[in-house]
Amino acid sequence: MTAIPASPATAAPATSPVASPASTTPAEPGSAVMDLYGHPTLGFVRGRGSTLWTADGTAYLDLASGIAVCGLGHCHPHLVAALTAQAQSLWHVSNLYRVAAQERLATRLTAATFADRGFICNSGTEAIEACIKLARRFHHVAGRPERVRILTIRHAFHGRTFGALSATGNEKYLAGCGPRAAGFETVDVLDAHGVASIEPLAARTDETVAAILVEPVQGEGGVRPLPPAWLQQVRRLCDERGVLLMLDEVQCGFGRTGRLFAHEHAGITPDVMAVAKGMGGGFPVGACLATEAAAAGMTQGAHGSTFGGNPLACAVADAVMDVLESPGFLEGVATRAERLRRGLESLVARHPGVLREVRGMGFMQGLVTVRPDGATHMRRLLQELGLLVVTAGPEVVRLLPPLVIDEPEIDRALAAIEEAAARLATLPE
Ligand code: PLP
Repeated sequence: MTAIPASPATAAPATSPVASPASTTPAEPGSAVMDLYGHPTLGFVRGRGSTLWTADGTAYLDLASGIAVCGLGHCHPHLVAALTAQAQSLWHVSNLYRVAAQERLATRLTAATFADRGFICNSGTEAIEACIKLARRFHHVAGRPERVRILTIRHAFHGRTFGALSATGNEKYLAGCGPRAAGFETVDVLDAHGVASIEPLAARTDETVAAILVEPVQGEGGVRPLPPAWLQQVRRLCDERGVLLMLDEVQCGFGRTGRLFAHEHAGITPDVMAVAKGMGGGFPVGACLATEAAAAGMTQGAHGSTFGGNPLACAVADAVMDVLESPGFLEGVATRAERLRRGLESLVARHPGVLREVRGMGFMQGLVTVRPDGATHMRRLLQELGLLVVTAGPEVVRLLPPLVIDEPEIDRALAAIEEAAARLATLPE
């Protein structure tokens, strides 16, 4: 076997102003990773369907799905076959060349949606960045350079890169990162009764606004579906004022709500949409989809990505679409999601001292606890019971099961949630 030559970069510099012993010799497993994720100790070596296994063989029922990513469960055989077949022919070529898999995927996504054009990228935040640039360039090339403002909704989450972060409606994500990029404004659309109203958005939508950006079901912000009637009003407002309607379906798209995209429930179509997460079933891929008219400013050189639209990612996303578009698949999702929803409602009714309400759509459900820190406790208690969930703030347990979860698994999950609720009731405040 040929020895792999040491790279010059691996040799220690003679002196370094910043190096410390701890930075070259991690003291504990995981400590070489930045603290961003808090160094969790639970990890997995294998996944299949709705189940994850640790190295010692302990099984967990996964109602987190990698935060709405593994929509088809872990290691879906059709996705494994598509990935491995593609891996044996071609992984990556630059977008300087024709990428047939990318063309196929874009054609398929546009055929399945309102969109005429797609830009394929690698993540949700990249999809949002593309949407923001698309919106500003749409007006720019039409001779309206003053239209740069992007209105977003309170509690929204759109990602971690700077444009997406600036669009995010929660100051906590911006903390310590300096000022928000110019031109982004968050609007509180709830009236005094907590009902979504069009007035606050209408009041801000003048001839300097480029786009309104909305998650049809807010995910990180607490699993809050925006009412269909309100989404219809936003659509009308955008049409009347010459503003693009951009939807962020990064979390709620690709079948999660029981329809291919959540906005279908409201009977509207956007001008632009960001997608990712479930699109690749675990392989990093995202897209900005747009109508022909909205994409007018996305001309040669206006945007791009080295990895975006590579054959591996596109082959997997194409395979995800095969499953989502197979006859009866989404109907099955809607039916099983209804079983979960009814079960959660019944738990809320039986444990009113612990659980306040359930809200969400399809397989995107939030269980709101009475205690303000209840979800944090529930997540830990559920993990002890072998059930994985995520939170959406300290009082919302977020349930994002794989779309392929079956009825016995749903019933097991509900039983574990009931047990955790009973345990939470006995915990001191
Ligand atoms: N938009 C929404 C609605 C999201 O939920 C997320 C991630 O949670 C993002 C954008 C950012 O996606 P990513 O983490 O892939 O960059």
